[in-house]
Amino acid sequence: MSVIRAVPLLDLKAQYGPMREEIKAKVDEVLESQRFILGPEVEAFEKEMAAYCGTQHAVGVSSGSDAILVALMALGVGPGDEVVTTPFTFFATGGCIVRLGAVPVFVDIEPETWNIDPGLIEQAFTKKTKAVLPVHLYGQCVEMDPILEAAASRGIPVVEDAAQAVGAVYRGRRAGSMGSAGCFSFFPSKNLGGFGDGGLVVTNDSDLAEKISLLRVHGAPSGYLHNVVGGNFRLDSLQAAVLRIKLKYLDSWTDGRRRNAEDYRKRFDEAGLAGRKVFLPVERQERHIYNQFVVRVRDRDRLSRHLHERSIGHAVYYPLPLHLQSCFAGLGYGEGDFPKSEAAAREVLALPVFAELEREQRAAVVDAVRTFYGGV
Ligand SMILES: *Cc1c(COP(=O)(O)O)cnc(C)c1O
Repeated sequence: MSVIRAVPLLDLKAQYGPMREEIKAKVDEVLESQRFILGPEVEAFEKEMAAYCGTQHAVGVSSGSDAILVALMALGVGPGDEVVTTPFTFFATGGCIVRLGAVPVFVDIEPETWNIDPGLIEQAFTKKTKAVLPVHLYGQCVEMDPILEAAASRGIPVVEDAAQAVGAVYRGRRAGSMGSAGCFSFFPSKNLGGFGDGGLVVTNDSDLAEKISLLRVHGAPSGYLHNVVGGNFRLDSLQAAVLRIKLKYLDSWTDGRRRNAEDYRKRFDEAGLAGRKVFLPVERQERHIYNQFVVRVRDRDRLSRHLHERSIGHAVYYPLPLHLQSCFAGLGYGEGDFPKSEAAAREVLALPVFAELEREQRAAVVDAVRTFYGGV
């Protein structure tokens, strides 16, 4: 009889432990300065993130959702415009488009990577297309070159939703650095997670960076004279200070996630499940950062209950594609419109992959899946 102990999907306490003193000292420094909004910590973090992503500019904002919103605003996306994107993503991707009065035009995904199918993008373009918004899902970059090419030939900007892909690499380029703008989230469960909400936009376009900086502070360059209507999209100093410390460890955490993914491959293979009952994530691009380790399985919901009973952390990202969300019913999409996204929503399951995950925990995860399918 094997005794299985609980395995969390994510253990942020394990990450915090070794950094505790360093972070407390830094937080104390910010408290003593009593400078909380933007300020030197945010500016320093922006420089470091621009360098990390290989872009000229970075603008810290209030969340990943606001990063997408403000990037689209800066590109002039508004009522009646169309933005081409994937229906298999976190809600914010589509929500930001609709909040601006624009229309998300969904195209289906590739079944192996769950990323938007680049071959379907061009036929989705119309005269109203104002932007393309690919999402680097689970930490692996979209096949970007055909998208960048198709968009460039029509002068359509590409905005990358890189919320799950900080540090991911596609043909030598970092996630976020390939399009007109790249959007990041520092929600605590992302690979670079703050102690609250936060986000960032990177770009090589100086005009766009300036516009985003302006929109971030209600469109007022200084004082109370407002050139455009923006919002409060500011990143705060405490978040930036914490994120600056965490950024130093990001690549070692990514290496840990990648090692865990490798170990899962070995274990699922040895259990006789890989490619038979459990379809492992396909690595297409240079550097998958495994924000999530997602497998494709049959009987997903029953397996989920089985794992739940054994206290094995797991999650379904995402159980309902955007085109079937009730709040988007007005867009006129229906069941069957994007069969690959709909199949993914039925079959995907995320397993724990965080850097601090221990050997026995990985073994317990695979063992719990094995007892469900009755593998070797
Ligand atoms: C997390 C996430 C967002 C939104 O980020 P928040 O910081 O939570 O607003 C947007 N898109 C994707 C794909 C995400 O995973």
